[in-house]
Amino acid sequence: MEKKRVYEQQPLLEVKNLETAFDIDGEEYNAVDNVSFKVERRKIIGVVGESGCGKSVMSLSIMKLLPKGIGRVKNGEIWFEGTNLANLSDREMNKIRGKDISMIFQEPMTSLNPVFTIGFQLEEVFFNHFKISKKEARMKSISLLKNVGISRPEKIVDEYPHQLSGGMRQRVMIAMAIACQPKLLIADEPTTALDVTVQAQILELLKEIQQMNNMSIILITHDLGVVAEMCDEVLVMYAGKIVERTDVDSLFYNPKHPYTQLLMGAIPRMDEEVDRLSSIKGIVPSLKNMPKVGCRFANRCPHAMPECAAVTPLLNENETGHEVACLLYETSKPKEGMNA
Ligand code: SF4
Repeated sequence: MEKKRVYEQQPLLEVKNLETAFDIDGEEYNAVDNVSFKVERRKIIGVVGESGCGKSVMSLSIMKLLPKGIGRVKNGEIWFEGTNLANLSDREMNKIRGKDISMIFQEPMTSLNPVFTIGFQLEEVFFNHFKISKKEARMKSISLLKNVGISRPEKIVDEYPHQLSGGMRQRVMIAMAIACQPKLLIADEPTTALDVTVQAQILELLKEIQQMNNMSIILITHDLGVVAEMCDEVLVMYAGKIVERTDVDSLFYNPKHPYTQLLMGAIPRMDEEVDRLSSIKGIVPSLKNMPKVGCRFANRCPHAMPECAAVTPLLNENETGHEVACLLYETSKPKEGMNA
């Protein structure tokens, strides 16, 4: 009881100096480089950035789902309720995965097994974590499907994934992810593959479930509109590093990092008529071409200075707690525990 009370006062998740490396052609490359952040209880944290920024690799590192033999957590700590997940064996992590921490992905068809019914797959989640009869598991599955807004759940349990629409499949995935009422849900681009109306419904459902279950969510997205709608706090990632972290209002009203400012500028506005949507020139450097020193955004940054190629900016915190990694703001105080 005492132990539980102590954990309740701490962040639900604390990632410290996480480094995730991939082995490519015999060489080691860091896809996530010295990333630190906290997820407070009952909060939604958005993680934004273009493809290749390390968002998904970071979440797979937390879940211990990196591709075997290619990717690994090289350094750092991942504290969840007093346990450093980075030290757990696969077997120990299996007990936490699905029960205390769950994940949903962009494309439910890749996560649902096409040869088993929806009911079978939902029941499996219960059997993996609880001692429960087949009849109870079926009843629970039907009730879960109802809770995620699926009509005729008694019929849907006996159907196969291909018989459902994309939106319904994503609802099934959410049902599977919340079956054991996890404390943390990692949602990796959960609405990207869906059309706009269904996207809004799924996001609303996630928010409802988060509030009802007192859950925290790490929401990975490249869509800043989704962040504005859903999140309390935001991490902006670029080339494997966090370049900005703040609450959602500060990010939208006072974005500081030049990369964040450009991401904001690329959002289409309802009150402006434009011929073409703006985009950020250039691309995220690949793992093999990652600069060893200096700012990784330098070759795309409109404010780049000569020193940006030589000095690696640290994540610094200003007096309001807004953190940014950019030499334009170097007078701020370095974030506690940060290494270069
Ligand atoms: Fe731009 Fe320099 Fe700041 Fe990097 S450190 S974002 S190159 S100004």
